[in-house]
Amino acid sequence: MYIQDQLQEIRANIAAAEQRAGRPVGSTTLLAVSKTFPVSDIMHAYADGQRLFGENRLQEAMEKIPAMPADCVWHLIGPLQRNKVRKALEQGIALIEAVDSRKLAEAISRIAGELGTTARVLLEVNVDGEESKHGFTPESLQEEWAALTALPHLDIRGLMCIPAPTAEPEGARPAFVTLRRLAETLRNRGPLPLPELSMGMSHDYAVAVEEGATIVRVGSAIFGKRDYPAQS
Ligand SMILES: *Cc1c(COP(=O)(O)O)cnc(C)c1O
Repeated sequence: MYIQDQLQEIRANIAAAEQRAGRPVGSTTLLAVSKTFPVSDIMHAYADGQRLFGENRLQEAMEKIPAMPADCVWHLIGPLQRNKVRKALEQGIALIEAVDSRKLAEAISRIAGELGTTARVLLEVNVDGEESKHGFTPESLQEEWAALTALPHLDIRGLMCIPAPTAEPEGARPAFVTLRRLAETLRNRGPLPLPELSMGMSHDYAVAVEEGATIVRVGSAIFGKRDYPAQS
């Protein structure tokens, strides 16, 4: 079965990269990016033990979550509009990975407070400094850090990045290094442990693991080519 063969190969590749980097085997979590793929495909991954899935559009996630077994865990990896924060928190998104502005962070904290909960998030960093891209720049994140960490109902678990595509997997390494070092700087500053680094996709997840990724977001290498582009 294609999906299960792919999953097993990717898990082995992750373990090999962890060993190359001297990291404990099992210290990276594989997030299966299921956007655009039907529940029947996601069930094949589930049958092979996969429980963590990522969707980049809330609407699509909302359709799939009730259709899958309840022990699946869902991350939202795409941009989130402020007017959809309440829905995301109410509908069981375990981690909002792409918090790309202080305004969004503030809205999430406020609404989580209203719902009597704390929202788990990652902050998205624009590691290559392209103007068009979402996310905090490394500089703006440092500037906003005190304000972000003071938000009472936000549990900032770490950082994520979506670097510009590169021809070779190695091309992404500098971006991954930037994200890892930024997390180290912020950890030293305190007060958060920031355990998570979400980086690496189908093309370059092995390099990301070598550079310390704790979450790799892999879609097409598991499920195959997407027929239509996912919207964001
Ligand atoms: C689609 C997507 C991925 C997975 O991309 P693949 O190249 O299919 O592995 C990872 N992260 C984000 C944010 C995405 O939107």
